[in-house]
This record gives sequence, C-alpha cells and structure tokens, in this order.
Amino acid sequence: ISISDPIEEHRICVCVRKRPLNKQELQKKECDVVTVPSKCVLMVHEPKQKVDLTKYLETQTFRFDFSFDETASNEMVYRFTARPLVETIFEGGKATCFAYGQTGSGKTHTMGGDFSGRGQNASRGIYAFASQDVFLLLNQPRYRNQNLEVYVTFFEIYNGKVFDLLNKKAKLRVLEDGKQQVQVVGLQEKPVSCAEDVIKMILTGSACRTSGQTFANASSSRSHACFQIILRRRGQMIGKFSLVDLAGNERGADTSNADRQTRMEGAEINKSLLALKECIRALGQNKSHTPFRESKLTQVLRDSFIGANSRTCMIAMISPGMSSCEYTLNTLRYADRVKEL
Ligand code: ADP
Ligand code: MG
Repeated sequence: ISISDPIEEHRICVCVRKRPLNKQELQKKECDVVTVPSKCVLMVHEPKQKVDLTKYLETQTFRFDFSFDETASNEMVYRFTARPLVETIFEGGKATCFAYGQTGSGKTHTMGGDFSGRGQNASRGIYAFASQDVFLLLNQPRYRNQNLEVYVTFFEIYNGKVFDLLNKKAKLRVLEDGKQQVQVVGLQEKPVSCAEDVIKMILTGSACRTSGQTFANASSSRSHACFQIILRRRGQMIGKFSLVDLAGNERGADTSNADRQTRMEGAEINKSLLALKECIRALGQNKSHTPFRESKLTQVLRDSFIGANSRTCMIAMISPGMSSCEYTLNTLRYADRVKEL
C-alpha cells in the first residue's frame, strides 16, 4: 500500500473498481480491455473495425479520485472510499456510499463481502469494515463517554417498494410529513454493540435478500439494497451512514424485447439512477431544487443529500471483459457525470 491518504475536503468522491476476469470469462478466452495505468486513471480499449476491415483499438481515458485495478482488495477499496466518511457521522453529519455498475461487476462483493466461504475464505466488505471503524472510534477517549448507541438497518427497494431485510422482507410504507421529513414506517433498527453483531445482521439481511430467487431470475440484481449505520444519543439521531448496493444499471439498455414486468422494472431502475445522479450533482452545487421525489431511492435518502455536513462517495464497478465493453463505457460515463461539477 503506497497510496497516500485521500484528500479529505471533497464532499463527493467518485472512484472506479475493476474486477478480475472470472472463470467463465477466462474459459471463453475473453480479452481484458481495461487498464489502470495510474492511481487515478482508467482506460478502456475498445476493439473497432475500419471500413477497409482493418482492426484497431479505440482507447478512452477516464479520470477519477481513485481507480482500483483487479489486484485491489476490498479493504484497500474501503480505505480510500468509505473510510474517510466514517467520522462524519460522529460530527453530526450524514455519509453515503454507493456501488454502481452492471450486474456481475462486483457491487455486492465490494459492499456486502462474500461470506459463502467460512472462516479464512470469508471476505468482508464495506458494510463490515465501516461498522468495525465505527466501533473503533466509539471507544476512543473523545467519543467514549458520549453515551452513543449504534443501530443498523438493512432494506431493499424493489420496483419502487421498500422491504425490510432484517424483518422477513416486510413491505414498508414511506411517509413524508409537512416538513419534508421522510420516514420509512416500521423499519427495524437493530441495536448492535460490536462488529460481530453487525456481521450477523449482514448475513441475515443478505440471506433474506436472495431467498426465494432462482439464479436466472435473481431480483436482487434489480433492486437497490441499503445498509445503514445509525448513531444515536438518548434516542436522538446524531449521524447516519448509508451504504447502498444499487440495482444493475444494464436494465434500461436492453428492455426492448423483454416482457412487461421486466420493462417496468427497467424503467423504474432507470428513473431512480437518473434521479440519483441529479441529486448527487445538486449536492455538489448547493442547488435549491433537488429532484428527491423522482424515485423511492432518492426520497428515502433525502436527508443524506441535504445539510452542510453531508458527504458522498460513489464506486463505479466494472467488468473487464470485451463483451462488457458497452456497459462498462456506460458506467464510466455516468460516473463521470456525477463527478463533473
Ligand atoms: P454484482 O453485485 O455487481 O451483480 P457480484 O458482487 O455478485 O456482482 O460479483 C459477481 C461475481 O464476481 C461474484 O461471484 C463475486 O464473488 C465475483 N467478484 C466480484 N468482484 C470481485 C473481485 N474484486 N475479486 C474477486 N471476485 C470478484
Ligand atoms: Mg449484487
């Protein structure tokens, strides 16, 4: 690890992570079309053909706050993305970290980790690392005697509806009062007192998320999952860290010959990802109007986009294979727009 610590004053940090080629891709002898020449730069080398049929590579270069190549660990990615945001919630602020990208690009791996291999083979993700650091900070002298309590929530937004992953996928209502305070009615906040408690919640919620799904028709790729770490003192909220594993962004592109249900899901996902982009951009520009109500996702996260002490980080996940080239470029263009102010 040779990268110096990230610049702290940025309110919006946009990073990109390239995953390694997987077994199937290697078996199909897929080419890796993505390179990471330096810690902020990422290049896509798209194969093209001229009219005279000669082939060439068209290289597109993107710049981000950080770009992680296939050798980066979850912990490394965490350190330079969500880690600098943890302290925000102790200072009365809201922090948010999004994982964006096509299905299969590594969003859930990065955020939730992979606990299918027990013990040594289990790899923690950003939910677990962030929780661990919350407890570390909580036990430091400056916060230890402040009577702070930690809670977690874990819910899913599927087709514009909210489901509690820590309460058997109970369907929840979202209410907005006259003062534009948004409330997810009945969302369970589980008290946690150590990092191990949190891992149990991550396992429970993740199992709930994927239960009753066939692999080919996994609705988890078409839903947003949101894991929140909430700090309270005598019931009063002090800060909140929302960690969001977004729905696959490929839906909008290929909905033309899909059935009605899939088209509707695709439209809903498109709408929410567009609204998200606008809300993050507005956060950076201190705009007066922010389109929170355009989607359930942005409505539920409303309080995280406002206030001077809000900080956001987005990690764009990409697959390196040639067959994913078009989706990869779409993802990078979206991330570019979020970054650009
Ligand atoms: P998504 O949530 O974006 O659909 P996943 O996180 O489920 O994608 O990743 C798809 C597969 O690729 C999983 O089997 C996962 O373990 C693997 N994977 C993703 N990112 C990495 C990585 N950085 N290193 C190793 N394997 C990865
Ligand atoms: Mg996933």
